[in-house]
Amino acid sequence: MAPIPKTMKGVTIEKTGGVEVLQYKTDLPMPTVKEGQVLVKNELSGINYIDTYFRTGLYPAPSFPYILGRDASGVVQQVGTGETYSLKEGDKVVYMAQSTYAEYTAAPALHVKKLPSDINAETAIAAMLQGLTAITLIREAHPVKSGDWVLVHAAAGGVGLLLVQMLKDIGAKVIATCSKGKIDLVKKYNPELIIDYGNEDFKAKVLEITKGEGVAAVFDGVGKTTFDGSLDCVARKGSMVSFGNASGAVEPFKIARLSAKNAKLLRPTLFGYMATREEFEKYTTELFDFIKKGMEVKVHETYPLKDVAKAHEELEGRKSSGKLLLKI
Ligand code: NDP
Repeated sequence: MAPIPKTMKGVTIEKTGGVEVLQYKTDLPMPTVKEGQVLVKNELSGINYIDTYFRTGLYPAPSFPYILGRDASGVVQQVGTGETYSLKEGDKVVYMAQSTYAEYTAAPALHVKKLPSDINAETAIAAMLQGLTAITLIREAHPVKSGDWVLVHAAAGGVGLLLVQMLKDIGAKVIATCSKGKIDLVKKYNPELIIDYGNEDFKAKVLEITKGEGVAAVFDGVGKTTFDGSLDCVARKGSMVSFGNASGAVEPFKIARLSAKNAKLLRPTLFGYMATREEFEKYTTELFDFIKKGMEVKVHETYPLKDVAKAHEELEGRKSSGKLLLKI
């Protein structure tokens, strides 16, 4: 193992704002490994929509300066004390942790997975956080059954493309929404219906195809602009799963609205379903099984770390489909 340097490159924010607050630096202090952590030298870091929430201040950063990023792939350099789940120096891994837009990350071993020999690192990292999100949405938030009608917003996105494929695999009937320019891409995965929600009334179309009944579950990561219409699409005893805010935070609403359909409202976060190693193992194993069965993991583009601002602009500007990655 090469000696660990004292400083590293990475991208920090010192205040919240637009992409101009993203600062590429080459002299950041090396993270120190605490109990239950491993130090990973990153090769690819994932970009997730949540990174933009921390950058803009929609979600508060724990402190400043703050290194963004939530998932990455790389090689273990050091193993800390305590429970580290048999991870060893030199292991190639994929993982979830804070502060992955950097050359090195001290990651909680709880969320670090040794890369299986039959899955390449790029596919694994491109599927990691967004794929685990998709799995826990359909297994935990609303356990979807074969034959269920389901509505997936932003179906061409990182979470969306994986969610559509998993739902089709379990036999759900999928209604997908996306921007007009992404329809052909989503078509590849054979949803029952694709709606251009920028120009068409998605609620009317959902109620038409489900003969007025609505869908067993809505998976809505768009938030502010779709929440109201989504709630009206839920069938009797169905679930409204609001899991993100790409268009802005959902406005407060009157819970009495749920009584019209005896609907359930959920606002889950992935980490709430990944609190134990058992949960993490169960769902990473299932994610890798989906990949081995042929689930396509689309990478939109891999950007050099110093071009992170361009990547954020494309993600927020709705120019991307699938996963955006950073080459460290
Ligand atoms: P995506 O790749 O899905 O990008 C977001 C997509 O949202 C865009 O491509 C765009 O697709 C759509 N969108 C609709 N309205 C807007 C708008 N006003 N501005 C920007 N985009 C818009 O991102 P991710 O896959 O990383 O995340 C998807 C959602 O899932 C996010 O809300 C994210 O926060 C959430 N999430 C939540 C998790 C949790 O634990 N709760 C974990 C992971 C993700 P189009 O052009 O087709 O409209």
